Amino acid sequence: MCKKSGAFVLFVFLFVLCLSAQGQTVSEKIDRKDLKQYVSKLASPALEGRRTGSEGKKAAAQYIAEQFERLGLETRLEEFSLIESYRGEAYLQTASGKRLRDYEEIMFQGSNYYHEEVEKEVVFGGHGRPEELEAIDLKGRIVLIFSVDHKTGIEAQSFLRKTEAEGIIVVPVDRPERFESERNRMKEYTLQHRFFIPDDPDAFAQPIALDTMRFLNSYTLRVNEIKELMGMSQKKLEQYIKAKKITEVPIVPVKIKFERVRKEIITANVIGLLPGKSEKMIVVSAHYDHLGKNGAHYYPGADDNASGVAGMLELAEAFAGRDDLPYTLLFLAFAAEEEGLVGSKWHVNHPDFKAENVFCNLNLDMISRVDTEHEAKENYIYCLGSDRFPPLHDVLLQADSLYDNCFIDYSLNNTEGISSLYSMTDSYNFVRKGVPALFFTSGLHPDYHKTTDTADKINYRLLESRVRQIGLVLELLQQKRDN
Ligand SMILES: [Zn+2]
Repeated sequence: MCKKSGAFVLFVFLFVLCLSAQGQTVSEKIDRKDLKQYVSKLASPALEGRRTGSEGKKAAAQYIAEQFERLGLETRLEEFSLIESYRGEAYLQTASGKRLRDYEEIMFQGSNYYHEEVEKEVVFGGHGRPEELEAIDLKGRIVLIFSVDHKTGIEAQSFLRKTEAEGIIVVPVDRPERFESERNRMKEYTLQHRFFIPDDPDAFAQPIALDTMRFLNSYTLRVNEIKELMGMSQKKLEQYIKAKKITEVPIVPVKIKFERVRKEIITANVIGLLPGKSEKMIVVSAHYDHLGKNGAHYYPGADDNASGVAGMLELAEAFAGRDDLPYTLLFLAFAAEEEGLVGSKWHVNHPDFKAENVFCNLNLDMISRVDTEHEAKENYIYCLGSDRFPPLHDVLLQADSLYDNCFIDYSLNNTEGISSLYSMTDSYNFVRKGVPALFFTSGLHPDYHKTTDTADKINYRLLESRVRQIGLVLELLQQKRDN
């Protein structure tokens, strides 16, 4: 126990005794049975993995709002619209009428979309060497090349970008298995739905390639579809290359559709407010969305982040009914965290948000498992961000010294600059606005972002002691003067 905190400990002891006179302490009110009930409900198949835009997520928001209401908090949904964007129909139809489907027989890459089917021509470009491409009329055409090595393929692409060619089809004849490996690597990522705030300037903050370079759609074709597309075998085409007569290969007509769907959806953060004596507030947050479904399977997201929401609800319950709180408590369940911290970003950028009205943020994300660092010492919780805010750090040290069943681990703090984990959390959107924020987590584990992040793997005893520790931090923060 830290020596200098002796007087404070006595104060807290009296304070806690005082509370006991009225009933249970905050810590005693944190109950693993409740936590289990919240996690089981949020991670249940009925909520379908709580994906942004899904009915399951709406039901989760409704459930959290009902809990806030039951606890007597001022409850509301903070609704906002997002743009959902995803790849729609994409195919290349050969002259004989066969549709080569995206991520089946061919893979589409690029951002020049054809929202309606268009007619194009495919011209054979041999191995894609400059002397071969220079001999072809490329204008408006898609050039099919046999890739003999990685370098030639890349060079052909940059050559074609400077021409009037419409696109490039690469056939990995040197390594036919590349199609499959590329497909496995990229399919899920490419076909993901993405969500962003309309007119969000940050969405365009990625570095843009040199604007003198045109973007060129690039397609990868399965080797065994060559004949279907070009009307002649790979062997025959190789002969044309060898004889330096690729300009004699007939040009083939194709039809292409390459659609990007954009639609507006409504989602919501869920707010439960417990007024204190001051309007100044402490925000206790946890994101409630997760990854939805993958075919027949769904992502329960029990640790990520049903555990954090359960902790937040249990803290709300522990403080509900108190009319003596110095600070207002704002319990906040964030939407769309998995889409890039979108819910918290929206919250702190809204004109109603006043950074000067927020004393601090405590964010709970994945707090119910044990990472490999702590297999021998499970009763821990990481806290990130306190290194930037010494007054908050003092409170953590005090809380830690008062509660034996969970110690606070600061080893993920990064005093050297932006800790990458910290900057990838909802807490960080508060920090961007100048609000001190603490991020609590038990860290990563092998079930992270997998369909195996299930409720039966949660350690409820640990979850309970961690939430009790955070509850104590919250209690001590209430006694802390803001200066
Ligand atoms: Zn996650």
